[in-house]
Amino acid sequence: MTPTIHELLSNDKALGPVTVKGWIRTRRETKTAVFIELNDGSCLANIQCVFSLESAASDTNKPEIARATTGASAVIEGMLVASPGQGQKVEVQASAIRILGEAPVESYPLQKKAHSLEFLREIAHLRARTNTFGAVARVRNRMAFAVHEFFQSQGFYYVHTPIITASDAEGAGAMFQVTTLDLDRVASSGKPDYEKDFFGKPAFLTVSGQLNVETYCQALSRVYTFGPTFRAENSNTTRHLSEFWMIEPEIAFAELSDDIELAKNFIRHLVTTALKDCADDLAFFDARIQPGLIAGLEKVSKGEFSQMTYTDAVKELEKSKDSFEFTPFWGCDLQSEHEKFLTEKVVGGPVVVTNYPKEIKAFYMKQNDDGKTVAAMDVLVPRFGEIIGGSEREWRLDLLEKRMDELGLKKETYSWYLDLRRYGTTPHAGFGLGFERLLLYVTGMTNIRDVIPFPRAPKLADF
Ligand code: ATP
Ligand code: MN
Repeated sequence: MTPTIHELLSNDKALGPVTVKGWIRTRRETKTAVFIELNDGSCLANIQCVFSLESAASDTNKPEIARATTGASAVIEGMLVASPGQGQKVEVQASAIRILGEAPVESYPLQKKAHSLEFLREIAHLRARTNTFGAVARVRNRMAFAVHEFFQSQGFYYVHTPIITASDAEGAGAMFQVTTLDLDRVASSGKPDYEKDFFGKPAFLTVSGQLNVETYCQALSRVYTFGPTFRAENSNTTRHLSEFWMIEPEIAFAELSDDIELAKNFIRHLVTTALKDCADDLAFFDARIQPGLIAGLEKVSKGEFSQMTYTDAVKELEKSKDSFEFTPFWGCDLQSEHEKFLTEKVVGGPVVVTNYPKEIKAFYMKQNDDGKTVAAMDVLVPRFGEIIGGSEREWRLDLLEKRMDELGLKKETYSWYLDLRRYGTTPHAGFGLGFERLLLYVTGMTNIRDVIPFPRAPKLADF
């Protein structure tokens, strides 16, 4: 393998003969030379390849340079030298060029310097070649690795929870059904016969790995999942995808305060890693996408998180009732506008909100002694609100069963989950971090469809 542009640019000791391979970003001709900017996605920066007029005019180079248009793939040979120009430490004094694949000017869609994110979404198969999407992909990669780094360094075991599930009422969101029944037949016969379906009963794509991972938590103590999750909510927001990746740690012998501590340390680790290892890409986002991004992240990496109860949060919101489309009141599910207000106007940074009304939270959350709230916590961040949702779990069998009865949940379906309380139950807690929400936060991108390579959303499943 030839060295990547990232390797060449970060290692200026290797001056001397080189071969570089990549996609042409620009070609520029001056009175003294031809400049070709080559990018291979290994980093944000291009490498500048300079052809003297003589070299550019050689029999072999001349026709190739003519084909060297934006988007074409090329191999360039020459000498890596210290750059006399500004803006780069090294450049290639080029002696030979070969075009591998042309990108005709008439049809290659990425001609302009700047394209709208909406337009790029329609060409998801090519958008990774832009600065923005290359940067998103690199940050996404680093953050995925940092997730494992964090948990592995703290004694957590990675558990693969299933994607297909038959427990249908977890309550986290609407589900996609998985079936091998012939839908045309079902339509004409009027009713599906689930006994004939693949699993002999209705099955779905998971909305959360939590219930499954709790079983391993009650055996290995500290565990986490990191996998795809599906929600069929018909919500066309900039914060929701139909298919997204979720990270769900679960800790045994732990209470809500341990859960909050873990969430804060986790976010801090991710943000600190991004600042340290994705500095160029973050500088790009700061300059082009979200001014002030780095300053905000630095505050989080060093600073404390604020914390308040749901009840206090609602009091704060009620003071500014008129700023909202949806009037806040005790018992309401916090809307994204409320969450943004709390983080941006009330605390000026991320905030952990605790002890939500039990009516707006899932059945498995631990009931507090007040009879009204549960030991839940959401981490909210500026710009879009909820990034983490978590709780201490109800670990007392009688109380959990009572709550399931109240909500009309079938205990038979959850017998395995109840067994965890029946045999050797422990106080335990966990949370879910939406990986793409984290990426919105770290990159400053504003639409969640732009931080996953191939977004899935209502009426959107191309590529
Ligand atoms: P929201 O109120 O924002 O829809 P939620 O309460 O449904 O979130 P949870 O069920 O607590 O979210 O899921 C845990 C985490 O998963 C959320 O904090 C969020 O980061 C992420 N998440 C939830 N739904 C989606 C989605 N449709 N697309 C992307 N991420 C999501
Ligand atoms: Mn939701």
